Amino acid sequence: MKWGLVGASTIASEYVIGAIRAAGHEIVSVLSSSETRGADYAAKHDIAHSTADLAALLADRSLDAVYISTTNEKHHAQAMAAIAAGKHVLCEKPLAMTLDEAVEMVRAAQAAGVTFATNHHLRNAGAHLAIRDLIATGRVGRVLSVRVFHAVHLPAHLQGWRINDAAAGGGVIPDIVVHDADTVRFHLGEDPVEVSARATSSGMGQGVEDSVMSVWSMPSGAMVQTHESFTHPFAGSGLEVHGTEGSILGTGIMTQKPLGGVVLVNGEGRHEVAFDRHDLYGRAVSLFADAVAGRGRVAADGVDGVKSLAVALAVREAAVSGQATPVSYGGF
Ligand code: NDP
Repeated sequence: MKWGLVGASTIASEYVIGAIRAAGHEIVSVLSSSETRGADYAAKHDIAHSTADLAALLADRSLDAVYISTTNEKHHAQAMAAIAAGKHVLCEKPLAMTLDEAVEMVRAAQAAGVTFATNHHLRNAGAHLAIRDLIATGRVGRVLSVRVFHAVHLPAHLQGWRINDAAAGGGVIPDIVVHDADTVRFHLGEDPVEVSARATSSGMGQGVEDSVMSVWSMPSGAMVQTHESFTHPFAGSGLEVHGTEGSILGTGIMTQKPLGGVVLVNGEGRHEVAFDRHDLYGRAVSLFADAVAGRGRVAADGVDGVKSLAVALAVREAAVSGQATPVSYGGF
């Protein structure tokens, strides 16, 4: 496959360019709002073409797909243009700034018959695939609760728009709650119905929240508790699933790398759970390419992206209003 990068981003540079190339695909071009930055980025990453003109990038008939990893407020317009040009789209989370925009993107991709995926990396992790398997095969019995620990320390090189630019989609809610929403949906196979939340700025956020805690109710009656932050240097991450027959304790697994550990605790004791340590982004790209070729489905599709955004928007509304807030999924 031939790809264009929409956005000269850190995530592309650190993870996705490598994942695309590891899958044997070619990156033909990169879009940056700055011609100089784009040219530098292309040179650094050995990409043949750079441009500041999205229409010019999309006019390249040899391109099969685009990977959109600009700041969040740009995803909608760029995805709509790419879909209109007949390109398959792998789009970063959050899909958009509003639910209506995200729904429009997904419906447009469906109408155009192009593959559309949301880059939720966590559901590609061996640790999370193992956890989902344990739940699905009844190893914890009926799930009573899930606790998500995703309070991390935002690295210095990422402390730009995320911590000070609400118009670009900054704040920990659009940044991390979407991932946790996707991961919980992936594990439980159901969508949160209502959320309550408190958010604050605890030292990093300037005009946007940098920390949030929320509680979600699920259709099954399971309770979900999550904590996301940019300001916790030593907290570590984790995800726990507690059921009537056992508990799953995942430690250090809310991460971009195939790290951490998973333990199953039940009446017979504690059992280390083995899992595959493949590259998360590599799996996402491979499944995307398979879906483009008509084989199977992407890891997280557009509807998954709409739903993770819907939960994050409800968490933000609940944090602002102080009220329990129902989650609206825009018709999905
Ligand atoms: P960056 O800040 O690195 O990139 C976003 C945009 O900022 C780029 O498109 C670029 O604009 C501009 N930019 C980047 N570096 C510089 C610089 N040194 N000087 C000036 N401008 C710069 O953001 P991220 O890569 O962290 O995030 C991009 C998107 O990816 C977001 O939507 C985010 O939510 C998502 N993301 C997803 C992750 C995942 O695991 N799924 C992980 C991290 C991010 P231009 O293109 O115009 O040059």
